[in-house]
Amino acid sequence: MITGAGAELEPHAWSVPLRTRFRGLDVRDGVLVRGPAGWGEFSPFWDYDVAESRRWWRAAREAAVEGWPPPVRDAVPVNVTVPAVGPERAHAIVAASGCRTAKVKVAEPGQTPAEDLARVEAVRDALGPSGAIRVDANAAWDAGTAVARLRELDRVGLEYAEQPCATLAGLAEVRRRSGVRVAADEVVRRAADPLAVDLREACDVVVLKVQPLGGVRAALRVAEAHGLPCVVSSALESSVGIAAGVALAAALPELPFACGLATVALFADDVTTDPLLPVDGALPVRAAVPDRLAEVAAGPGLAARWRARLAAVAA
Ligand SMILES: [Mg+2]
Repeated sequence: MITGAGAELEPHAWSVPLRTRFRGLDVRDGVLVRGPAGWGEFSPFWDYDVAESRRWWRAAREAAVEGWPPPVRDAVPVNVTVPAVGPERAHAIVAASGCRTAKVKVAEPGQTPAEDLARVEAVRDALGPSGAIRVDANAAWDAGTAVARLRELDRVGLEYAEQPCATLAGLAEVRRRSGVRVAADEVVRRAADPLAVDLREACDVVVLKVQPLGGVRAALRVAEAHGLPCVVSSALESSVGIAAGVALAAALPELPFACGLATVALFADDVTTDPLLPVDGALPVRAAVPDRLAEVAAGPGLAARWRARLAAVAA
């Protein structure tokens, strides 16, 4: 049992295969905890250390112990997420999604610019001219490369480019030179203090993720501090973690863009029989009840690793 703000939270470790390799992962795993306010998810990626994982634990504890602030909307428009797959597969994923916005992974290690362009063109074909396409490079390019690649990719029309390169100065240069709007993700959520990052020249949009920022309330403070349009994205959570993202998106005063919360579609299974998957391009604002914990339970070795991790982070 882990002590969290007066509540004893029993960890339930889960593990689910992904349909397509994503962020270098074939399997996603994490822990769910239940408290007086509901279920919370703690699922930092394994390359995050104890210090960086503490915010993720605060998000889980908030969901389980405090609950979330009240919503100001009852549905959240979402984008379909397209992994670094070939063009036929990309087309099929978008066509099957029912979403009007697509987020396309680009700059995947080992792939060529031509592969990125073919994927983005296939997505444009599937969405038609009125759909919105954003690309996410996960900070893989330097600024000069980003400008060149984005000019090429923008031939199909880009809504924005998410974290095209790593640094604030690089983002500002890309924004100035490419003519494509820039969204900041890693530069905010992996900062020592996400409230203090100076985004004024660097981006047009801020990506908010509940677990990396330490909870729904903490993410709302980040949104308020920067005063920029925000997009809520997942950290590839189960439906329980996605519900926290939906709660954040539902509580933001303004929500001008579709959110990146349809990622349960990348999972081959889920912790619930009623997953948070989009209908007509939107997610309902509701919690998720993990009624399939037995079916997706992590094996004993993995469950022990999660208990040890949680104990270290919650200490
Ligand atoms: Mg991103």
